[in-house]
Amino acid sequence: MAAPQIEKLLIVQDRDATLQKTEQELARLPRERAALDAKITAETENIENARAALKAKELARKEIDSEVKIQEVAIQKFRTLQLEVKKNEEYRALTQQIDQAEASIATLEEQEIQLLLEIDTEQEAFEAAKTEIDARIELQKHSISQLQERETNLKASLDAARAALDEARAEVDSDYLQHYDRVRKLSKRPPYVARIENHICSGCHLRVSNEVAQAIRDPREPHFCDQCGRLVYL
Ligand SMILES: [Zn+2]
Repeated sequence: MAAPQIEKLLIVQDRDATLQKTEQELARLPRERAALDAKITAETENIENARAALKAKELARKEIDSEVKIQEVAIQKFRTLQLEVKKNEEYRALTQQIDQAEASIATLEEQEIQLLLEIDTEQEAFEAAKTEIDARIELQKHSISQLQERETNLKASLDAARAALDEARAEVDSDYLQHYDRVRKLSKRPPYVARIENHICSGCHLRVSNEVAQAIRDPREPHFCDQCGRLVYL
């Protein structure tokens, strides 16, 4: 049975650990949130890039369309001119221009068919990818709302943990509390109040001196591990 002050410090240590765990968990949340936000941004960018690529092809198709119209108007004009010219070579020259315009219309139309096929394939791929990406974004948004819920719960736990720790600290004599706070600051990890078993400190796992092993039987004073400086008890 440990000394009463040690018993009380063990409760302080326990609540301290709970508070620390809650604080650490809360501190991790912003990074988790940032990672989820980054994923959503990347997914959205993927969709936007695919959409932009499709739009560019649609635009190219429209340009071909208007180029075809220009050629058709030109052919119309050459035909009208053909009705007016008197000389044979002028007539032939216009026929040649009409042939050229018709040839470029044929080329343009081939390009357009190729483009339409590409647009069709890409449109299909885009729709399929978008459905998947939208589903993933939905999942990420769900994770974000879970994260927010966890944050709310943790903040509530944090207040409760602080109150519980304060309550436990109020029970301990001030000199023991000062020792505890000093050890807590110096030790890299808990426990700050460590049990001695078979002369071994459970904080640093080293053997304490015979003096400490003897003195520890006196419950009226605080005792310390002469290896690591932790508060120790039997
Ligand atoms: Zn120790």
